[in-house]
Amino acid sequence: MSDGCPEFRLGSVLATSFTATLTERCGDAVERIPTPQRLADWLAVSGLAVGSCTPQDLTRARELREAIHRVATATALGEPLPAAAVAVLNDHSARGHAAAVLTPEGERRWRLGPASAVADALGVLAADAVAVVAGERDGRMALCASPTCRAAFFDTSRSRTRRWCEMNTCGNREKKSRFRARHGAGPGPAA
Ligand SMILES: [Zn+2]
Repeated sequence: MSDGCPEFRLGSVLATSFTATLTERCGDAVERIPTPQRLADWLAVSGLAVGSCTPQDLTRARELREAIHRVATATALGEPLPAAAVAVLNDHSARGHAAAVLTPEGERRWRLGPASAVADALGVLAADAVAVVAGERDGRMALCASPTCRAAFFDTSRSRTRRWCEMNTCGNREKKSRFRARHGAGPGPAA
């Protein structure tokens, strides 16, 4: 249940799926984990069920999220990595002690410690960010072409030319505004 809170935008890459819990960073920002419960919900649907989260957990999660966003943005732009954000990321990665375990079906699951579940979950997210930024996976870090979004996403398209974080949000909005411009209509109501 989302209880009236904004829906999640889940992607296939854990680290950028996490940074997408804050969208429209360069426009009217939408916070998709506004409460500790929504952080717990997001972790649960992302394979990192922790039971419950405290307000301090939420603060730490957002700190990590923004550090990942800054590091991913610098990577996408080919700029030097911001040292403070790298330190936050490494700190969270070092503090987590999640174990990767194999299910009988041959799938990976994360086993989190009962007393340190949130720190362990954040450690998994930080380690995932390290892997994609360090080029451990086949793909390219990129920024959404939408000027109000500029979300970092991991482009795994064969041609590495994906332009939007999501086709059915930013991509469609861009297509609609181009259509309106071509057909001489006014700006129209925002989608
Ligand atoms: Zn976007």
